[in-house]
Order: sequence, then C-alpha cells, then structure tokens
Amino acid sequence: MGPREITQNIYLVGSPDITDPGDCAIYLLDLGELVLIDAGAGASYDEIVLNIEHLGLDPAKLKAVILTHCHIDHIGGAPRFREAFGCQIIMHHLDAAPVEGGDGRMTAASWYNLSFPPMPVDVKLTKDEERLRFGDQEVVCLHTPGHTPGSISVYLDRGGVRILFGQDIHGPFSEEFGSDLAAWRRSMEKLLTLEADILCEGHFGVFQPKENVTAYIRHYLDIYREGS
Ligand SMILES: [Zn+2]
Ligand SMILES: [Zn+2]
Repeated sequence: MGPREITQNIYLVGSPDITDPGDCAIYLLDLGELVLIDAGAGASYDEIVLNIEHLGLDPAKLKAVILTHCHIDHIGGAPRFREAFGCQIIMHHLDAAPVEGGDGRMTAASWYNLSFPPMPVDVKLTKDEERLRFGDQEVVCLHTPGHTPGSISVYLDRGGVRILFGQDIHGPFSEEFGSDLAAWRRSMEKLLTLEADILCEGHFGVFQPKENVTAYIRHYLDIYREGS
C-alpha cells in the first residue's frame, strides 16, 4: 500500500501498512502550507518524505508537525522533520514535558524498546480549544485528555466536510502514562458533539460517513462504560 488522498488535499502518508509496523497513522494536510499530524515512530522518516514527494508535494513546504500526544509511535520522527525543514512542533503543554525531557516512560519509548532524545516543543497549547491558521484554513485543536493528560484532537472544515483527527481515542489506558478514563469519557462526549463527517484515527484507519464516526466513538464509550 502507498500513500493516498483521503479527501480534499488531506493525505495518509504513513501507517503500519504504508511505512513501518511501529508507526501510527500519519496524516498530511496540504493547505498551501504543509502540516503533518503525527510523525511515526522514527525509523520511517525517509519513507514518509518520499511519500510526500510521490504525492507531488514539496516537503520543504512543511510548516508544522502537530503531535496529538507524547507517545513514541506518534512523535519518534518529529525531531528529524524539525531539523530538516525547520517546522514548528505543536502540542499540548501537558504532554510537552515528557517530549522536552526525553522521558522514556511517559513517551512509552522504553515500552517500545526505543529511545527518544529530548526535543524542544515550539508551540505549547494550553487552552481547551485553540484555533490555528495555515494558509487560508483554520485548524482547531481540542484538548481531549484521557489516553494521556495532554492528548489533543484536531479538526477542520473543508468544503462543507468536517474532518476529525482523533489519534488513539480508542485508548489504550494505563496508569503508566497517566490515563484518566473519566476525563476520556468527557472528551469523547465533546467529540460526538462535533458530528464529524470523517474520522482519521491513529491505528484503525479512516471512518466515514458521520454515522460511522459516531458509531466508532460510541463503541469505545460502551467498552469503557462507567463502572466497567
Ligand atoms: Zn498513544
Ligand atoms: Zn498510538
């Protein structure tokens, strides 16, 4: 499998099938400026760059890498993108500390038997909702704690279609990396109110239309019901 367009200049450029078994799903937005959502575990960096070129896009236009949370399968490639293209690393401040400190436990790097060097985070999100602008497109970052304290979900509206990037909203949950199920349930309720048309998930692919997005989130709310 190769990289592919999901919709309207939004691409899947990496995943266990496309790049490396250790990778999360890696999404690329071409908004005039290029924005990556998550960066994979690290070993696939060169392949991701090639995939961007194969799509006819210029990696030099990479403006930002938005990291949905601090786990190694999402952040491992980020230092190389930052170094090569000078792109800004954007993430929630609660998950930034382990990244800046190279914390092997909170980044789950030790769990994956990988190492992660400390990396500066250029933009630390602190609000429940932050609106960023790339090219002429507004991109919204929502704080959706649960999987980790600083997990975020990202969405944008494009041509009447709402696209939601909800990496690892399925979990897993562990005290090891500061999961909080009660916070997660509230986060999922917040995501349901978005009524997104497309969900780009971190490990299980792309879900659409709206009914399937809702069903996906409700399925996990069902599994991790209160008292379960
Ligand atoms: Zn994770
Ligand atoms: Zn993950």
